Amino acid sequence: MNSNHFDIIVIGAGVLGTFHAYHAATTNKKVLLLEKDGKPMQATVRNFGQVVPSGMSENWFEFGVYATQLYKRIQAELNIGIRQNGSVYLASDPDEQQLLHELKQRMDERGYEAQLLTTAQCLERWPVLKSEYCREGLFFPQEVSAEPNLLIHRLLNYCTAKFPNLTYRNYATIITCDIENNKVKVITNEGEQLTADKVIICNGSEFKILFSDLFANSGIVISKLQMLRTTPMPALPLEGNILTGLTTRRYESFEECPSFASIQTPEHLKELKQWGIHILFKKAVDGSVIVGDSHEYVQAGVEEAGYELNQHINNLMWQEAARIADIKDWKIAASWAGYYSQHSEKDIIEIDMEDKIHIRTAIGGKGMTSSAGYAQKSISRLLAG
Ligand SMILES: Cc1cc2nc3c(=O)[nH]c(=O)nc-3n(C[C@H](O)[C@H](O)[C@H](O)COP(=O)(O)OP(=O)(O)OC[C@H]3O[C@@H](n4cnc5c(N)ncnc54)[C@H](O)[C@@H]3O)c2cc1C
Repeated sequence: MNSNHFDIIVIGAGVLGTFHAYHAATTNKKVLLLEKDGKPMQATVRNFGQVVPSGMSENWFEFGVYATQLYKRIQAELNIGIRQNGSVYLASDPDEQQLLHELKQRMDERGYEAQLLTTAQCLERWPVLKSEYCREGLFFPQEVSAEPNLLIHRLLNYCTAKFPNLTYRNYATIITCDIENNKVKVITNEGEQLTADKVIICNGSEFKILFSDLFANSGIVISKLQMLRTTPMPALPLEGNILTGLTTRRYESFEECPSFASIQTPEHLKELKQWGIHILFKKAVDGSVIVGDSHEYVQAGVEEAGYELNQHINNLMWQEAARIADIKDWKIAASWAGYYSQHSEKDIIEIDMEDKIHIRTAIGGKGMTSSAGYAQKSISRLLAG
């Protein structure tokens, strides 16, 4: 048997590629997962780690629910940093409250557990919140959060230990990928040639190496997000995914609510909206609190979005965070930018070449929530031909 031949090669070991490899391995296929860096370090490790199916629409909600269950199952076997502390959406004005009530009704219809919380109940659970901001909350107790800087690395260890038929290799940049003699041939940066019956490319925001012409006019945009992290505050009761008012004007599940279309943006939020800011909090396992985020969009690559941080955006985020919670004793320890690819009209990019090369990318801001569920569906469709 040719040791350089695989049933499936997955290129890119971010969360989307890793879960494609995981699901392919569950079917006993011989799978190779290849990552160009020493360890994945793009969107999959630079994000919030909020696993929030409640924010997703339709299929993506279902993918998120599936992913939540899978994360919990894996966590029961190996600590991959998944914690079930729930998600809460906070409303700061009557419009946002209306959206929470409409979402609650939709979730009740789906049989997805959701609880409306009064101001007092929110403050009891998260005392750092300000009563004048927090008019009401909608809580999803079964949702989880991940530790992005741990999850993917431990998940890769988990996968390779669990599936003898799955091989993971880092420092392997795939520089060409072509169909030859009814197989797919890929070549690494070191000139090594590997073949597979199928190749799945989950390249995240990397569009210069493979099929660059194809991506040039694909309608994919890069979103640049700014994030802040505080010094550790282990005693601070701020568990779970905390999503605040402007999120109700951003997330897809709210867009499906009847009153979404008629909701106006108050004057004091307009500049925040212009920078795509909505404030989320997530306390990490070390007690630090991640605060974010903003969204700037560019048509081309990550370079065009720029690697510098815009201090004005950070100031706006911090000011808005101070309106929501009592943060006067919080200290910023770090600030960074993360980038993800998305399409202006499609939920994800799926390009199939001769039923052998399959590009799956631009999952947008929902990858930590939905990749595991989407990849399960994607693999079963690909293997069904
Ligand atoms: C700041 C920020 C906050 C976010 N918060 C959340 C959140 O709270 N919840 C949520 O659900 N989602 C969140 N997201 C979105 C989520 O992080 C992304 O959707 C997800 O990580 C995308 O995963 P991916 O595998 O497609 O891409 P990536 O993580 O970019 O992985 C792609 C991988 O492919 C590799 N690669 C590319 N080309 C090659 C090649 N030719 N050869 C070999 N390897 C290659 C890259 O090195 C990279 O490791 C956030 C994103 C950001 C940036």
